[in-house]
This record gives sequence, structure tokens and C-alpha cells, in this order.
Amino acid sequence: MSSFSVSGNFVDVHQQRIYPVTIHIENGKIKFIREIPDSGLTTNDYILPGFIDSHVHIESSMLVPSQFARLAVVHGTVATISDPHEIANVCGMEGVEFMIENGKTVPFKFNFGAPSCVPATVFETAGAEVNAADIERLMQRDDIKYLAEMMNFPGVLNADEEVMKKIAAAHSNGKPVDGHAPGLRGEQAKIYIERISQPSDAKVPLAGGFRGATDHECFTKEEALDKLQYGMKILIREGSAAKNFEALIDLLHDWPEQIMFCSDDKHPDSLVLGHINQLCARAVAKGIDVFKVLRAACVNPVEHYKLDVGLLREGDTADFIIVKDLEHFAVQETYINGELVAKKGKVVTTK
Ligand SMILES: [Zn+2]
Repeated sequence: MSSFSVSGNFVDVHQQRIYPVTIHIENGKIKFIREIPDSGLTTNDYILPGFIDSHVHIESSMLVPSQFARLAVVHGTVATISDPHEIANVCGMEGVEFMIENGKTVPFKFNFGAPSCVPATVFETAGAEVNAADIERLMQRDDIKYLAEMMNFPGVLNADEEVMKKIAAAHSNGKPVDGHAPGLRGEQAKIYIERISQPSDAKVPLAGGFRGATDHECFTKEEALDKLQYGMKILIREGSAAKNFEALIDLLHDWPEQIMFCSDDKHPDSLVLGHINQLCARAVAKGIDVFKVLRAACVNPVEHYKLDVGLLREGDTADFIIVKDLEHFAVQETYINGELVAKKGKVVTTK
């Protein structure tokens, strides 16, 4: 039985309190959390849940999943929501299987979805096609968590049969659909969101009974606000390609329940420098309450996608990080399933 404990200032994202504790970890889970009486704490470090990139194509890091994980854990990332769209475009289902299997070789929580649009448009000649029957099969698998970015929004607006079958396959298996609708506004946005969101009479309701869907393509605050008001969850994207952080971050003040962070495409040169931890530091520097920031970076993705990622409650899997302060989020240690995977900028692993 492996057990150990860590002490520090506990950033309790549930009660929105910060106080000194000792956290006891046993067999990969949080066994108990004990408050330390006044002045009994000998460290200034903070303990908080790990970060989640809520939409990233691992392929654009030009690394296989196990190598992507080595760079990400150093910055406190413990999980991703990943769409294997790029590899599916080239290699079809064989590529998707490779990503899943390779990801399982390291202690990192990849959560793969089924690519909804391969090829991306009917005008594209891709190396493979993933049709509605394929999606139906994929949605029944436990290791496929959601239907990935439904970029064929004209198909959704026209209620194209093949497109609607794919959406129905996700919903009937209790899995959410990710949106992708750049520039869509008003009535059209409303119809799109309604069609990709799970109907409230679904047999397997989504997490928290919420029937929402996500979008990571907003470039302006007005567009994001439009979609937020129709119940959509907005992913603020800041990656190597698109950079929407400055335009959208102020929305986190008023919409902390409906916002997450993502990179979409993250090249290795920028992943080496930082990840979601950088977005947290930038958001806090803009005066946004740290608990709202951590809601976006840690809590919302776990709740929306029903991830097997712990949030530092007793009984949760021991996925957490230790940082020097809540301004720069310089990550000292990263733990996944109670295993120390990174320490002071270096990977700690037997692999
Ligand atoms: Zn994407």
C-alpha cells in the first residue's frame, strides 16, 4: 500500500477558501485532508488541482501523445480533451487507435473524442473517411469521451442526415458534442447550439443535467457573448495558431461556469515554455478572481466531460499540483493518480 502526504496552502476550489493543510494520499487517492492549526505550516507553497487543456490536437505538437505528456506535466497539466482529427484525416481509424494506445503508456489523462468531420468538407480529398456508422461504434466505447468539433455547421443548420446521425449517436450514448462555428451569430447560432446540445429528454443526461455544447472558435467578445447566452460553453483559445485570450478573457468575470481554456494547436517550441499555467497567470494579472480562473482551468472541463480527473476532494484520484504562488503559477510538482510525474521543471518517470 503506497501512502504519503504533502503539506501547503490548500486552494479549495469547491469552498473557495485557501488554508494550510496536510493532504494524505493512499493508493492513488486522496485519503483525507487535515487543516493545520495557525502558524504550524513550514512552507509557502500552494496545492491545487492540475490544469486541463480543454481542446488540443496532440498532432500539432508534432509529438506522439507520450512525448506531449512529458512536456505538459512540467507545466502542471494533468489532462487534455483531444480530438485526433488530424491523424484520422491521414490514417483513418488506425491513426485514432494509435493515439489512444500510445497515450495509455504514460501517466497522463488524455481524453480522446471521435473526429466528427473526416474529411473536413466534401470538397476535401482526405486519406480516410469516418462515417456515421463508424461514429455510432466509436460512441459506444468507454475510451471515446465525446464527439469532436462539429465543424460542418452548414450540415447541422441544414439538418443533413449523415451529420444528424452522428450527433444522435453521441447523445444516445450520453456523450457531449463539441461545436466549431466560427463567426456564427444570432438565430443561426441558436439553431446550431440547440441541435448539437443534448435534448433534455435524453436517456443518459450529460453531466449536471446540463445539455450544453462547447465552442472554441470565437474571435470577438460579442460573438462569444451571443453563444454564452444560448447556453454554450466557450473555450478561450490561446495556442500557436489562433490567439483569442485578450479578446475574450474579460468574459470570465461574469461567466465563470461556462468558460474553459484551450490551445487547439500548440507547437513544441511554445509547449516547452508553458501551457495552461501561463493562461492562469495572465488572467490573474488582469484582476480576475483566482477561483474563477481555476474554475476555467481545472473544474469546468472535469464537470462538462465527466473526466476521471480528481479535484482534491477526499476520495478523488490524487491529481494535483504544487505551485510557488498564485500569480505566476510556477509549478513545483505535478501528481497524477498519486504518482509524482514532474518536479521543478523536469519529468519524473520510470519510462
Ligand atoms: Zn480544433
